[in-house]
Amino acid sequence: MANLLIVGPPGAGKGTQAARIAEALGVPAVSTGDIFRQNIKDQTELGQRVTAILDAGEYVPDELTNELVDDRLAQDDAAEGYLLDGYPRTAGQVEYLDGVNLRRGEQVDAVIRLVADTEEVVRRLASRASEQGRSDDTEEVMRHRLDVYERETAPLIAIFEERGLVVEIDGIGAVEQVTERILAGLAERGITA
Ligand code: AMP
Repeated sequence: MANLLIVGPPGAGKGTQAARIAEALGVPAVSTGDIFRQNIKDQTELGQRVTAILDAGEYVPDELTNELVDDRLAQDDAAEGYLLDGYPRTAGQVEYLDGVNLRRGEQVDAVIRLVADTEEVVRRLASRASEQGRSDDTEEVMRHRLDVYERETAPLIAIFEERGLVVEIDGIGAVEQVTERILAGLAERGITA
């Protein structure tokens, strides 16, 4: 049983690490970005509403994002915990998640903060753009997404620091190595499979 968040700038490797950590701990990795992209692909109503927002590198409005997370965390596989990747990203989302957890009679147990410098992040995003063809990975949108992250999301980490929840992890290195660092950091807090 563990409720975890993974935070860090776009391109820090959150998605890759979230999948590996979730698998190791037996909780679902929930990526709001993945859910939005799937909806766009499936051309759902939600997908149609968010396409332009993702393409511009802006944030989807809290009401839409919060409801999506609420529904996802209500599914059976999240009964024993979750690893949220890319959520919360705004003060409103932090507040909303607090409410969800309160209803569950739970709290966030740890926040994995992946640290990677901007140059490395831009390099990774550029290579991901060519590998995956993500429409929001053009250089211009990429820089905008980093700006939005710095402005809207990075300051929120302080809230979790005040709560003593942040596990800071160097995100530079081989994928396996970073996973080991994260698992070791969580184990120090008594969070194990
Ligand atoms: P990601 O895959 O986490 O980088 O998310 C890709 C895009 O999805 C972001 O640039 C936003 O447009 C949107 N998105 C994902 N998560 C959120 C969120 N928590 N709040 C608002 N927008 C989000």
